[in-house]
Amino acid sequence: MLKERAPTIVHPKRVASRYLLSGIARCGHCGKSLVGQDAKRGQFTYYVCGTLLKKGASSCPARYLSSQQFESLVIDKIKEHILTEENLRELVNLVNEEMDAASQEHRNQLGIVMEEIAEVERRLDRLYDAIETGKLSLDDLAPRIRQLKMRKDSLESKRWELEWQLKDRKVELADGETVARYVKDLRDLLSESSLAERKSFIRSFVKEVKVTNNEVLLTYTIPMPPTGAVREEISVPRIVQDGGPLWTRTTDPGLIRTVL
Ligand SMILES: [Zn+2]
Repeated sequence: MLKERAPTIVHPKRVASRYLLSGIARCGHCGKSLVGQDAKRGQFTYYVCGTLLKKGASSCPARYLSSQQFESLVIDKIKEHILTEENLRELVNLVNEEMDAASQEHRNQLGIVMEEIAEVERRLDRLYDAIETGKLSLDDLAPRIRQLKMRKDSLESKRWELEWQLKDRKVELADGETVARYVKDLRDLLSESSLAERKSFIRSFVKEVKVTNNEVLLTYTIPMPPTGAVREEISVPRIVQDGGPLWTRTTDPGLIRTVL
């Protein structure tokens, strides 16, 4: 379900990028993606507005973001607002509600499929009767029987599929201790798993991170309790780099001054 809500297909280049937020980070000034860049052989890493990177200084008022601080800010916010015990409980309720709705739909479909199967069986019985009583020959009816049998097979597989979908639908959350352990596991996953895993994990919770001057607008894929808001604005006055345009002009990474 989270996958369905997450942003659409990400460009393979961005998936391969070693920058955690590439593909979901966006410039609030011009709307272009923020691109990960490194300087001094990877000693310094930044997120830069795509326009600024391509067209050079003064093409966009965006500034340079220290990747380390930008990424940890977003991770901290996910930990604080998404990976909480309260949110996990809410999420389970939400999932169960949607599953209930889906189950109802599946039960309705199953009813229809069962009726159709019964109808096909009745028709087959009538054809067999006709053969037994000698009214019609097997040769006459063989194609029709084959057709009905194929129809029955496809209905049976549909029925099997629906019955399987109706099984074990509910997610049960046991006690508070278990929930706390899940939350810890998820938080660990966010800080300790491989880059690819962390990227896909973040994408399942965050739709977009838009940066305008010192404002970062986070759009989540799921609502945050208790308000149910999916957007959050944070001020980050100290993580913005200055002097970026100088870098694009002179291509000397040494000119980037880190404001920490
Ligand atoms: Zn821009």
